[in-house]
Parts: sequence; C-alpha cells; structure tokens
Amino acid sequence: MEKQKKNKFNRRKLINSMALAGITFPLISRENVSAQEMKDTMKSNALLWAIAWKETAAEYGALCHQAFNIARWKVDSAVAKRKRSDKPLAIISDMDNTIIGATSYWGYIINQQKEFFDDAIWDKWVPKNLISAIPGSKRFLDHCYEKNVEVFYVTNRNQGDSTYQYALDQLQYLKFPYADDQHLTVYRESSNKMPSKEAISKSHELVLILGDNLNDYKRDYYVKDVDERFDIMSNDRDDYGDKFIILPNPTDGHWVRAMFGTSEPEPNEENLMILKDFATRSAWNGK
Ligand SMILES: [Mg+2]
Repeated sequence: MEKQKKNKFNRRKLINSMALAGITFPLISRENVSAQEMKDTMKSNALLWAIAWKETAAEYGALCHQAFNIARWKVDSAVAKRKRSDKPLAIISDMDNTIIGATSYWGYIINQQKEFFDDAIWDKWVPKNLISAIPGSKRFLDHCYEKNVEVFYVTNRNQGDSTYQYALDQLQYLKFPYADDQHLTVYRESSNKMPSKEAISKSHELVLILGDNLNDYKRDYYVKDVDERFDIMSNDRDDYGDKFIILPNPTDGHWVRAMFGTSEPEPNEENLMILKDFATRSAWNGK
C-alpha cells in the first residue's frame, strides 16, 4: 500500500515536470507520419526491447528448448513408470506464446506506432494465420504423440462465432498432433482454464501443464497485485519444471493485469507512467 501511494505521487510529479519541460508522449496513431515523427516515436516505444529480444535472441530460443526438453524428460519418466492398468497419460498446453508465436502481430503493433496490446488488431490478425511454432514446440508435441501421451490444447480467445475454428485451423496449420475437436477447448468468456484441468485429470493421468502465464497453471494467479502474485509464485516454486513448464513471454499476460488492473490497458500517458514506475521501483538513486 505504501509503495502504491509512493508510485502515484511520483507519477503525478513526473508528468507535471515533463509537461513543464515540453515533453509529450508519442501515442497518437496516424496513417501518414513523417520519418522524423516515426523516429521520435521509436525512441520511446515501450515494446521495442521485448519484441527485438523475441525476434533475435538465440537466448529466447534456447529458453524455449530448455522448457520443452524438461517437458520431454517428464513425459518419458511418466511413460516409463506407467502400468498398463493406469489411466492414459496426457498433458495440457496453452496455445498463444506457449506453442504459437505472434511476433508478426507485435511487429505490426510497433509499426502502427502503438505501445499496448490492441484487441481489435489481434482479432483481425488471428484468422490470417501469420503465426509460427515456438522453438521446440512441434518436436515436443510430436514426441508426445509417438509416446501415446495425449495433448489437450486449452486456450482463451474470442474472435466471435469463428473463434473455435480459427484456433483449430492454427493447430492444424502448424501440423501439431491431436489437432481435433476432441483435444481442443476454447474459453471465449473466461480466462479460467481450471474446469478443463479438472475434467482431463479425471479421465487421464495429467503429466504436466505448459503455459506462458501462471494462470494457465492455477487460477490463484488471477490477482491484481504484483507482490501478492510474486508471493504465490514463490510458494509454488517446487512445481516449476515439474507440474508446470513455463515459456517466456515479455509482452502480455496476467503479469500485465497485476500492474494495470487489466490485461489490456488503455494506451494513454498515465499507463505509460505506471509502466515506468514499476520498471524503476527498485532503481538506484545515483548516490
Ligand atoms: Mg498464452
């Protein structure tokens, strides 16, 4: 609470001092912008480092392979231990940013001079299948298929009546195994995936869950407080790499909701300052 008060005070003070200095925020989106305007915007776009990292860093790819390698070991171990009388083995995987990459969407967002997730653009982008498989994902999912470990895909998306078909098309487009309506669940109205987890656990032995959002693992993480969310994560520390395998995603998820109170914050100056305050909350004072 004390930290929040401090953040609000600093934010107001900083906005006022920037206004006095004639500094403005480049949030206006227009069709025709000059090269200079584009340069000025790009100097401060909050998304640049995150997307450049995903687009270029071999370290990003290595982290993904690391996650899927651990997942493969877990699957192999479960297969080795399984007795014939046991329930069939299964895993659950989230889709977006876990096995399906969206850098073409984020690149477009940057080129439109936007700095926040844009739901309307996302809904137009999804049916175009401008997607890629996350490094290591297909190799791992194919391994599950070879070992007779069923893969259940669980996602929350909403692009209207065609939502389910779009999601299924993407799984099939990337040639992932078990890409059928027996293995895909789409939540349109809620991000709570726990009913699927419970249902699959009844009929199968659930080996692990894959996701880029801790909410993919437990609903406990659907809280609007950064520090509380971090504490819950610390309590679950033994589960990571065991029951839940996490993929890196620096652009979106419920970690964003914990900062802004919503997963899709409005693109405005106040929210940019909230982002700045969180990014610098443990900053050295220079002394
Ligand atoms: Mg996801």
